[in-house]
Amino acid sequence: MYLKQVKPKRKLKKSDFLKHSNLKEKKQLLKLAKEMQGKKIVHINATAQGGGVAEILNSLIPYTQSLGVDASWYVIDPKIGGNFFKTTNKFFDGLQGNKVNISSSDFKEYEKKSQVIAYEIDKLSADILVINDTQPLLAGFLAKKTKKIFYSHVDSSKPDKKLWKRLFPYFKNYQKIVFSNKEFVNQDNLLKEKTVIFPPAIDPLALKQKNVAKETARKYLQKKGNISKSGQLIVQVSRFDAFKNPIGLIEAFSKIQENYKNAQLALVGFNVAKDNPVAELAYKKTREYAKGNKNIHLFYYPKNKKVEEFTMMAQNAADIVVQNSYREGFGLTVSEAMWKQRPVIGGPASGIKKQIKHNKNGLIANNSDELAKCLKELLDNKEKRLKFSKEGKKTVKNNFLLNRLILDHFKLYKKL
Ligand code: UDP
Repeated sequence: MYLKQVKPKRKLKKSDFLKHSNLKEKKQLLKLAKEMQGKKIVHINATAQGGGVAEILNSLIPYTQSLGVDASWYVIDPKIGGNFFKTTNKFFDGLQGNKVNISSSDFKEYEKKSQVIAYEIDKLSADILVINDTQPLLAGFLAKKTKKIFYSHVDSSKPDKKLWKRLFPYFKNYQKIVFSNKEFVNQDNLLKEKTVIFPPAIDPLALKQKNVAKETARKYLQKKGNISKSGQLIVQVSRFDAFKNPIGLIEAFSKIQENYKNAQLALVGFNVAKDNPVAELAYKKTREYAKGNKNIHLFYYPKNKKVEEFTMMAQNAADIVVQNSYREGFGLTVSEAMWKQRPVIGGPASGIKKQIKHNKNGLIANNSDELAKCLKELLDNKEKRLKFSKEGKKTVKNNFLLNRLILDHFKLYKKL
């Protein structure tokens, strides 16, 4: 068996969740939930932990269930073996625009295993199937009576052409394909009526989104992460991955250190995912680059750390949160920081630009020189920091909370 069910432990009360919706949204959610009684929704992705998709499903499943709708969640067993996850990691890189080389034997192995996964999915007899990653992509071939949605969470605006050609026959079997951003629909031959656009969202009720006083959070980080309480703190939370550009951030940070001698930089990227064989290499490269700089702190090994709590505290402790990615499907970490009223600086990825409007609710830096300038600008300007904190919270409240995402899902199910 390659499929494993995940049952998030949280039980939610509908009333707690609906508090974050306005009257109109609340009415629509309740109406559509009622219409979906008796239907079975099944979500599948690669891993139960690590990365934005797992983060979303951990909340989306209990939220949907709290409305009385039958929703369940399955992931792929990390023990699937062979080169399966290495190959799908290359899919991720290739869809995000890197040139990738996949041997035909690796591709065959992928197809074979993905097909076995598809047969297992078939046995679940879902009414609506939502596939969130490429590992179970071949489920698109399943019987007609199951309505099939593929939710693409990557920046696929300029995919590797050869890879796209290879994967396209599988994508085209889905009734609907959701992209988080309209720029990502730059796909040859993809029927327009198949595509739907809606962005991801964060869960305002999760421990991760808790607001904690900065002082308390700094004390926590000193105790659990050995980061001195003095000096300004800049934080980036993300898996170690070249697309997230941690090295560019270190470069920018080193440039400003002369003027901010006590400033600290924390890169929080705990390795908890079971589908990420490349993180270790990216971490080691970053560690090598930061070597000798005692004000840079890297967090990779999750041993003895409460990852969710530590991450939440790091975001709350930050004077500035950076997400320096040059490619990003969305970047939940940006909304997470804004929700905690932390001023943010983002890299030039379009997923990030969907959230940060330059100079309105944060800053966008296109390279490390610009990032160094932005860091200085914000560290020196309390008024601007306050303005971005306020505007950022508003942005998330109006656009990027899970209630809206559930409604978008329900509307899509109804269409099918
Ligand atoms: N995350 C975390 N601890 C870490 C690194 C990441 O809790 O050390 C979480 C982060 O808070 C966010 C998710 O993992 O909720 C990453 O989602 P995002 O969309 O930013 O990036 P992805 O990993 O999906 O590319």
